[in-house]
Amino acid sequence: MISSIRGTRDILPGEVERWQHLERVARSVCERYGYREIRTPVVEREELFAKGTGESTDIVQKEMYTFVDKGGEHVTLRPEATPSIVRAFVEHSLEQALPTVKLFTLGPMFRYERPQKGRYRQFHQLNVEAFGIIDSSLDAEIIETAATLVAELGIEDVELLINSVGCPGCRPAFGQALLKALGNQVPKLCADCQRRAKMNPLRIFDCKVQADQLIIDALPHSIDYLCEDCREHFNKTKRGLGVYGLDYRVSHRLVRGLDYYTRTTFEILGHSLGAQNAVLGGGRYDGLVKRLGGPDRAGVGFAAGLERLVLAMPGDAGAITVPDAFIATIGEEAREPAQLLARDLRHAGLTILIDYEGRSPRSQMKRADRTGARFVLIVGGNELAQGEVSIKNMKTGEQDTLARADVGTRLFSTKPVQETPTLANLCR
Ligand code: AMP
Repeated sequence: MISSIRGTRDILPGEVERWQHLERVARSVCERYGYREIRTPVVEREELFAKGTGESTDIVQKEMYTFVDKGGEHVTLRPEATPSIVRAFVEHSLEQALPTVKLFTLGPMFRYERPQKGRYRQFHQLNVEAFGIIDSSLDAEIIETAATLVAELGIEDVELLINSVGCPGCRPAFGQALLKALGNQVPKLCADCQRRAKMNPLRIFDCKVQADQLIIDALPHSIDYLCEDCREHFNKTKRGLGVYGLDYRVSHRLVRGLDYYTRTTFEILGHSLGAQNAVLGGGRYDGLVKRLGGPDRAGVGFAAGLERLVLAMPGDAGAITVPDAFIATIGEEAREPAQLLARDLRHAGLTILIDYEGRSPRSQMKRADRTGARFVLIVGGNELAQGEVSIKNMKTGEQDTLARADVGTRLFSTKPVQETPTLANLCR
């Protein structure tokens, strides 16, 4: 047997319905907030992430799946989607092509991390990115979008964390303050942190090594070093969250493991999840479009981990499609008419299963019961001769005979109806 690669997973029937539900809700939320879907390649030039995600990040330093392809090109399986979306924004001049540039994508990401529950080497994200707006109203709106996604998935016991990491104007002073506060303690930190202290002291906050935490917890806070404009932006963002009635906690350690963030950073934690409890995270990245060769345009976005959202969703989320009918056949001569009946009902929009194994009526009934089908249609010699089909309601056990032409109507008219929401119960 050839097994799957460590850190990758099959999503099997039974679980996949939860994914489909999640993807439906995610698309629906994104569309209602004005986002259009974009799909970018899974494989990109290595330099896109070195430049975009940032040389000093753990992702670029340690976690990328990079290889030289047969043409000698250094390519990388994307570890995150933001640089790809920014590349596409620049490459296709999307701000000219679209009236507002609000984009989302869903797909797999690849990071060579140590696998554990909620952390994989191939995992999936929903990415939501909005370009061109510097006003803090968008920071608040995007956080509200993320909170709505989590709420509509029925995920409870969550916490919103926010922070501001400043801008290229005020961040160097904060970096200096970090180095000053660390003083001669740098050699006591782990090897990664010693590298971070040289490359980008802010990244020290990404450290997970237990022995370093006491020193890191005592470091200065970025919000105490914000310039006037950044402080104003942070205050307005917080006010915006207040307008939406969203509770949050300011987390001084929330610098996020990517180099491009400016000003707002945020995360939503799912407290039911255990160690890997960040279900989504994001922030503002005003310099990134320019850094990747585009015009000087602002950006705000977030990435949600689909594996973690699926884990945090309630147990009954994402029902499987209930078959409308199972067609049981009696006798070889019933086979072909039964196939045509199945085709016609499927073309009409119904979910139909059919027996091909020629088993006894009793075992076909048993099989039908296992599938959870609402009805069994019995196609046999007698009924067929009269253009009729026997139909058994699997819930009530009632059985009667119907003209072939009326079967579709019966199946449609008995479908469970979905409630239409009213504005009153929609608005919280
Ligand atoms: P990031 O792209 O690092 O900002 O992460 C955004 C979200 O992606 C996190 O909050 C997680 O939900 C998810 N995520 C990141 N890395 C992994 C991973 N290795 N396995 C599963 N989910 C992940």
